[in-house]
Amino acid sequence: ESVIVAIDGPSGTGKSSTSKAVASALGLSYLDTGAQYRAITWWMITNGIDVADPDAIASASGKPVIESGTDPSAPTITVDGLDASGPIRAQDVTSKVSAVSAVPEVRTRITELQRSIAKAAEKGIVVEGRDIGTTVLPDADLKIFLTASPEARAARRSGEIKGSDLTTTREALIKRDAADSSRKTSPLAKADDAVEVDTTDLTLPQVIECVVTLVEE
Ligand code: C5P
Repeated sequence: ESVIVAIDGPSGTGKSSTSKAVASALGLSYLDTGAQYRAITWWMITNGIDVADPDAIASASGKPVIESGTDPSAPTITVDGLDASGPIRAQDVTSKVSAVSAVPEVRTRITELQRSIAKAAEKGIVVEGRDIGTTVLPDADLKIFLTASPEARAARRSGEIKGSDLTTTREALIKRDAADSSRKTSPLAKADDAVEVDTTDLTLPQVIECVVTLVEE
């Protein structure tokens, strides 16, 4: 039968690396929901929509066609048929994605997309995000909530971004998590039935093993 795993948590907790590795180890599909919110944000920016104007974002939210490839060894994301995997990681997108993601019409649209992708995954899927266990897939077979100290999260993110400064990264990350946690519609939150894993003092292989064991139990 098909198994659904929800992995939520703030940035820099190792969500993506863990989710991909767990999906690969178990032969499941993989969906990066943050990439979808980044993709819609990138489309808004390139189409001249003012991201500070929620009404403008709401009106345009149905326009971009976003498609996600769910192979954990080579996940893909396209917007209107164009490969968006590079541009969605740009600084500009990272700094604007929380504002776009807070618009209810954007969330409704992306949530529907996520549910249909999860439903289509024959063997099952690992879905990573902020509101998967609480809102998108509340009936998931296993819910994980990853945490880590702000220092550990900033250090990991800094290591990923070329030429980045630790203090700037830390501040930007804290600001984004605060925005994601305080929005009215499906904020970043731990589901009541989620297993919390603090990754601060764990290596990536340890976190992966921990989650794989929980799925197999
Ligand atoms: O995971 P990642 O850092 O790429 O996510 C980018 C942004 O997308 C988050 O900061 C958040 O604003 C938004 N997001 C969301 N809900 C999700 C996944 C991501 O609002 N399920």
